[in-house]
Amino acid sequence: MSFMERVRQFMTGRYGMDSFNIFLIGAAVFFWLLNILIWAFVPSLILWLLQVACIAWAIFRAMSRNINMRALENRRYNNFSRPIKMWFKLQIKKFRERKEYKYCKCPACKAQLRVKRSKGGHTVRCPKCKQEFKVKI
Ligand SMILES: [Zn+2]
Repeated sequence: MSFMERVRQFMTGRYGMDSFNIFLIGAAVFFWLLNILIWAFVPSLILWLLQVACIAWAIFRAMSRNINMRALENRRYNNFSRPIKMWFKLQIKKFRERKEYKYCKCPACKAQLRVKRSKGGHTVRCPKCKQEFKVKI
Protein backbone atom coordinates (compact mmCIF):
# COMPACT_ATOMS: atom_id res chain seq x y z
CA MET A 1 0.00 0.00 0.00
CA SER A 2 1.35 3.41 -0.91
CA PHE A 3 1.78 6.16 1.63
CA MET A 4 -1.11 8.20 0.23
CA GLU A 5 -3.41 5.17 0.38
CA ARG A 6 -2.45 4.65 4.01
CA VAL A 7 -3.20 8.31 4.76
CA ARG A 8 -6.55 8.05 2.96
CA GLN A 9 -7.46 4.92 4.91
CA PHE A 10 -6.46 6.56 8.19
CA MET A 11 -8.50 9.69 7.48
CA THR A 12 -11.66 7.82 6.46
CA GLY A 13 -14.48 8.83 8.81
CA ARG A 14 -12.36 11.60 10.29
CA TYR A 15 -13.05 15.29 9.93
CA GLY A 16 -9.93 16.64 8.15
CA MET A 17 -9.11 20.26 7.43
CA ASP A 18 -11.35 23.31 7.38
CA SER A 19 -11.04 27.08 7.60
CA PHE A 20 -11.06 27.07 11.42
CA ASN A 21 -8.10 24.65 11.43
CA ILE A 22 -6.23 26.89 9.00
CA PHE A 23 -6.89 29.78 11.37
CA LEU A 24 -5.56 27.74 14.33
CA ILE A 25 -2.37 26.86 12.43
CA GLY A 26 -2.00 30.53 11.44
CA ALA A 27 -2.41 31.52 15.09
CA ALA A 28 0.27 28.98 16.10
CA VAL A 29 2.69 30.43 13.52
CA PHE A 30 1.88 33.93 14.81
CA PHE A 31 2.63 32.91 18.44
CA TRP A 32 5.79 31.16 17.28
CA LEU A 33 7.10 34.27 15.47
CA LEU A 34 6.06 36.51 18.37
CA ASN A 35 7.91 34.19 20.74
CA ILE A 36 11.10 34.40 18.65
CA LEU A 37 10.91 38.19 18.80
CA ILE A 38 10.16 38.34 22.52
CA TRP A 39 12.37 35.49 23.75
CA ALA A 40 15.50 37.65 23.68
CA PHE A 41 13.94 39.92 26.31
CA VAL A 42 11.60 37.72 28.32
CA PRO A 43 11.35 33.96 27.86
CA SER A 44 7.64 33.43 27.41
CA LEU A 45 6.28 30.03 28.39
CA ILE A 46 2.73 31.29 27.86
CA LEU A 47 3.33 31.95 24.14
CA TRP A 48 4.91 28.53 23.77
CA LEU A 49 1.92 26.91 25.48
CA LEU A 50 -0.52 28.85 23.27
CA GLN A 51 1.38 27.69 20.22
CA VAL A 52 1.27 24.05 21.31
CA ALA A 53 -2.42 24.37 22.27
CA CYS A 54 -3.34 25.73 18.82
CA ILE A 55 -1.52 22.92 17.02
CA ALA A 56 -2.94 20.28 19.36
CA TRP A 57 -6.46 21.63 18.87
CA ALA A 58 -6.03 21.67 15.06
CA ILE A 59 -4.76 18.05 15.08
CA PHE A 60 -7.56 16.97 17.43
CA ARG A 61 -10.16 18.56 15.10
CA ALA A 62 -8.64 17.03 11.94
CA MET A 63 -8.57 13.54 13.54
CA SER A 64 -11.99 13.83 15.15
CA ARG A 65 -14.75 11.39 14.20
CA ASN A 66 -17.45 13.73 15.49
CA ILE A 67 -17.90 15.39 12.11
CA ASN A 68 -21.17 17.18 12.94
CA MET A 69 -19.68 18.91 15.99
CA ARG A 70 -16.55 19.99 14.07
CA ALA A 71 -18.67 21.31 11.18
CA LEU A 72 -20.74 23.29 13.68
CA GLU A 73 -17.56 24.81 15.17
CA ASN A 74 -16.39 25.74 11.69
CA ARG A 75 -19.74 27.38 10.91
CA ARG A 76 -19.53 29.41 14.12
CA TYR A 77 -15.97 30.44 13.28
CA ASN A 78 -17.00 31.49 9.74
CA ASN A 79 -19.99 33.49 11.03
CA PHE A 80 -17.72 35.26 13.49
CA SER A 81 -14.82 35.93 11.11
CA ARG A 82 -16.79 36.90 7.97
CA PRO A 83 -17.55 40.53 8.99
CA ILE A 84 -13.92 40.99 10.09
CA LYS A 85 -12.58 39.65 6.77
CA MET A 86 -15.10 41.78 4.84
CA TRP A 87 -13.97 44.88 6.74
CA PHE A 88 -10.31 44.27 5.86
CA LYS A 89 -11.20 43.58 2.22
CA LEU A 90 -13.13 46.85 2.07
CA GLN A 91 -10.19 48.79 3.55
CA ILE A 92 -7.85 47.32 0.90
CA LYS A 93 -10.35 48.16 -1.86
CA LYS A 94 -10.79 51.70 -0.53
CA PHE A 95 -7.02 52.19 -0.49
CA ARG A 96 -6.55 50.80 -4.01
CA GLU A 97 -9.31 52.97 -5.46
CA ARG A 98 -8.57 56.06 -3.36
CA LYS A 99 -7.68 58.18 -6.41
CA GLU A 100 -10.70 57.16 -8.48
CA TYR A 101 -13.50 56.78 -5.95
CA LYS A 102 -14.65 58.28 -2.70
CA TYR A 103 -16.40 55.90 -0.31
CA CYS A 104 -19.29 57.12 1.78
CA LYS A 105 -22.19 55.75 3.77
CA CYS A 106 -25.82 56.25 2.87
CA PRO A 107 -27.28 58.38 5.72
CA ALA A 108 -30.58 56.48 5.52
CA CYS A 109 -29.61 52.80 5.34
CA LYS A 110 -25.86 52.94 6.16
CA ALA A 111 -24.92 51.06 2.97
CA GLN A 112 -21.39 51.61 1.64
CA LEU A 113 -21.40 53.64 -1.55
CA ARG A 114 -18.68 54.48 -4.04
CA VAL A 115 -18.71 57.85 -5.76
CA LYS A 116 -16.46 58.72 -8.68
CA ARG A 117 -14.04 61.45 -7.71
CA SER A 118 -14.87 64.62 -9.62
CA LYS A 119 -14.62 67.99 -7.92
CA GLY A 120 -17.71 69.62 -6.48
CA GLY A 121 -20.96 68.66 -4.85
CA HIS A 122 -22.97 65.73 -6.18
CA THR A 123 -26.41 64.42 -5.57
CA VAL A 124 -26.21 60.68 -5.14
CA ARG A 125 -29.01 58.15 -5.13
CA CYS A 126 -28.48 55.13 -2.92
CA PRO A 127 -28.99 51.99 -5.06
CA LYS A 128 -30.24 50.11 -2.05
CA CYS A 129 -32.91 52.36 -0.54
CA LYS A 130 -33.28 54.96 -3.38
CA GLN A 131 -32.70 57.82 -0.93
CA GLU A 132 -30.99 60.88 -2.45
CA PHE A 133 -28.32 62.79 -0.59
CA LYS A 134 -25.47 65.21 -1.25
CA VAL A 135 -21.77 64.29 -1.35
CA LYS A 136 -19.00 66.88 -1.48
CA ILE A 137 -15.67 65.92 -3.05
ZN1 LIG B 1 -29.41 53.81 1.35
